[in-house]
Amino acid sequence: MESDSARGLLLQITESVRRYVESLQEGGVTGLPRTKTVAHGEMGKQTKAEKEPKGDRTSSSLPPLPPRSLTASPPSSVSQPQSSGQMTAAPAVVSQAGDLFLSPTVQTVQTLEELRAAIGDCRRCKLCQGRTQIVFGAGNPQAELVFVGEGPGRDEDLRGEPFVGRAGQLLTEIITKGMKMRREDVYIANVVKCRPPENRNPEPDEIAACEPFLVKQLDLIKPRIIVALGTFAAQTLLKSKTPISRLRGVWHTYRGIKLMPTLHPAYLLRNPNDKRLVWQDIQAVLREMGRL
Ligand code: URA
Repeated sequence: MESDSARGLLLQITESVRRYVESLQEGGVTGLPRTKTVAHGEMGKQTKAEKEPKGDRTSSSLPPLPPRSLTASPPSSVSQPQSSGQMTAAPAVVSQAGDLFLSPTVQTVQTLEELRAAIGDCRRCKLCQGRTQIVFGAGNPQAELVFVGEGPGRDEDLRGEPFVGRAGQLLTEIITKGMKMRREDVYIANVVKCRPPENRNPEPDEIAACEPFLVKQLDLIKPRIIVALGTFAAQTLLKSKTPISRLRGVWHTYRGIKLMPTLHPAYLLRNPNDKRLVWQDIQAVLREMGRL
């Protein structure tokens, strides 16, 4: 009896992996990186190479995105799929980061709404326990320009929209006053979609659990330019450990998309003298967009 259900589970997993690999192939992936086998008892030890900063990397290990569709439908104003609402009790975290790789639904979604639905009432990491709601992202689903932040704070957690607190007001000013664009013309997302408790930094397992959703968001939007706001967005997208102070101000490439790292608006609130650095970075973005 037990071996029957184990066999059934194994078949299910095999089928999920097969469909996932097929979806990767459809997306143009021709190979996957080999993982070093970790001997029992070695877990948690890092090799020297892993400990050392990897330095600037100008592209991620994922393949470039296919070009923007020429037949895409016209942009709708704001795409903010509704979250499933307030959580009362805190149900267990039911699966870990690897879950996504067994979830072909997420891999095959065609729209941001479908992606939001596939994320569901996410329990893939421990951040689910303290959040009010998932903050998926907001803006034009066909934006030329996407801003990526770190993760929701208190205001965002309550409102279900990214960058609506003090740092968000500053970002809105950068977009509207500095760039002469409307907030709804761009798309705004975060690396992690649930608020870390007390606004602490997101932890590696939380980033690993949530990053595939950001990858898919960017894959669906296919922006021309990404602005990575702060350390976590820049380092996550660029797979780099280089400090933001060194990453910012120069163009990088994320899967064929131009990426400009800059300082996080929350940092600017504490260090207003560095606003001029962000303005330099934003001017480079405006130049690239032909708006300066
Ligand atoms: N900081 C972020 O990184 N993201 C938000 O949505 C709000 C503040």
